[in-house]
Amino acid sequence: MRMTAETGWPAVHAEASQLLSALVGELCGPVQHGGRHEGGPVDAPAARAKLHRLARVARKGGLASFASIVLRLAERLEPCLRAGAFAPRDLEQFSCVAAHCGRYLDDPTDMRAAAALVEALGAEPDPAAGRWERNQLLQGVVEEATELIRNVGAAPNAGGHDGLTGLFDRDALRARLQEMLTAAGASHLSVAVMAIGIGGVEDILDSLGPQVATAVVANAARALICAVPCGEVVARLGTDHFVVVRTGLSALELSEEAARLVEIIGRSRRLGGHLVSVTARIGLAVAGQHGDSAADLLANADAALHDARARRLHTSQFFAPHMRHAALRRVSLEARLRTAIERGGFELHYQPKLTLRTGRLCGLEALIRWPCGAQRYIPPAQFIPMAEESGLIIPLGDWVLDAVCRQIALWRRECALEVPTAINLSAVQLCSRQTHERIGRALQRHEVPAQRLEVEITESALMRDAGAALRCLSELGRLGVRVAIDDFGTGYSNLSQLMRLPLAAIKIDKSLIAGIATHARDAAIMRAIVDIARTLGARVVAEGVENVQQRDLLAAAGCDEYQGYLLAMPMDAQRLQAWITHHGHRAPVT
Ligand code: C2E
Ligand code: MG
Ligand code: MG
Repeated sequence: MRMTAETGWPAVHAEASQLLSALVGELCGPVQHGGRHEGGPVDAPAARAKLHRLARVARKGGLASFASIVLRLAERLEPCLRAGAFAPRDLEQFSCVAAHCGRYLDDPTDMRAAAALVEALGAEPDPAAGRWERNQLLQGVVEEATELIRNVGAAPNAGGHDGLTGLFDRDALRARLQEMLTAAGASHLSVAVMAIGIGGVEDILDSLGPQVATAVVANAARALICAVPCGEVVARLGTDHFVVVRTGLSALELSEEAARLVEIIGRSRRLGGHLVSVTARIGLAVAGQHGDSAADLLANADAALHDARARRLHTSQFFAPHMRHAALRRVSLEARLRTAIERGGFELHYQPKLTLRTGRLCGLEALIRWPCGAQRYIPPAQFIPMAEESGLIIPLGDWVLDAVCRQIALWRRECALEVPTAINLSAVQLCSRQTHERIGRALQRHEVPAQRLEVEITESALMRDAGAALRCLSELGRLGVRVAIDDFGTGYSNLSQLMRLPLAAIKIDKSLIAGIATHARDAAIMRAIVDIARTLGARVVAEGVENVQQRDLLAAAGCDEYQGYLLAMPMDAQRLQAWITHHGHRAPVT
């Protein structure tokens, strides 16, 4: 794409482009025409004037960073201009910078050209300072280019580039990668694909809005452009999905490079008045070892990325064949999950909770079940993480909320059951600003008093984003819905943060309960948790109670409530009703 007034780019850029060609002609002419390799006499005042004019034109056209590049170039050239002659090295550098300037002016959507331009300006004497300075410049140039894209509105249609960041899109990447593979075959150069997933963009979109989320993505793109050497491919394939192709690196160098990118992307930044941070994970696939075609390498790097995501790794890893199978399974499970959500193909089971002191029924917990054949279910631990990852947890959570509220209303009408029923909220729901509104609407729709609903949020979800947790819990508190911290004892709670959360109950994780009758250490931790709950003014609930010894120890420690197989398995609404009728809201004798 030529940047001229006719194509919609500001005319000022065409002027800059012409000025640049004139300069190149003037300064590099002798060498280009094969004449004087020692450099030739130069009309210094004219060249100086042209450089300054170029800077002025650039600034007028809104390219302040580009203008400062030109001025720096002028500074760099000054000794030669003063001497009236160029050494071949200077000329070489100038023609290289000029070529990149030209490429950039021709197509400001080409971020690689922008990066190459800054790189061509050369390193400073102090490498650290040089790097920093180049990055600042590059950031500026990229920002200007992004702004230009937005103003002119032409770039999103420009073939091969992603509209927001100007990076290669999927088609351009695949074509370029295939070319590189062909070329590498001849030169025996290694080619590796890095699939980079940015985690946390959805949460930012949900909590801080689309502007901040867009800025986060653009920022990650910039960080990548600055971090990856010029000439290497950087592409954006989805909202939070980037690909970098690196050549000539060994496996060890690739790992080190990936770790560096993870660190750079993970740095906190202030955007739109908020301090935000994202995480990165990288899946790696090396040509020859993990695939031969562009399509295979991209798919396998993706599979390695997905595996890292599923295992919540915050690093990079190389592809291994089992990941491909897992990827296929995941894709098919996700499609089935989507269909099941659309068709309401889930059930809810309920597990009773009893007061330890009196043995009375004091609550229920709703647990989702995904049927897959007669009396068989896919366990929530298998599909909830995937639902969270794919965003399907929001419609799934809506279904649970609606079904539970409907059931609560039915029980109240038909058997005067007035104990609260708890639902489990995932971390994604916790971060969503709309969650309390959704809960409020469901309660209203089914005319259920807020005290009849309880919400359980795991310790790890609460601690992942304490700010979002505090906001969500306060809003739920205003509605009158009580919140319990689930699986307590498995995460790493920051106790001072915990103190600030309005928690109604602490549920001790079943893995800890499993050991209290056999391990003194587990029993001691259980008693310490009871003390913490007392300090917070929260009830203590033990989950996963399977035998009488465990129950008695809990009672002796002053635990308030319990649930577990000792009492009852989770069961469907009908069976639960029969259970309650049979036991008369009291614990079965054990
Ligand atoms: P959770 O909220 O901690 O639920 C307790 C889990 O322990 C349930 O597993 C329950 O069936 C199981 N359990 C109950 N009593 C015993 C016992 O005595 N021994 C043992 N070993 N296990 C017992 P389930 O139903 O497989 O659910 C697993 C997790 O999936 C839940 O842990 C919860 O975090 C999540 N989950 C379940 N339903 C939902 C849902 O509707 N939404 C969301 N976001 N998460 C859900
Ligand atoms: Mg729970
Ligand atoms: Mg639990």
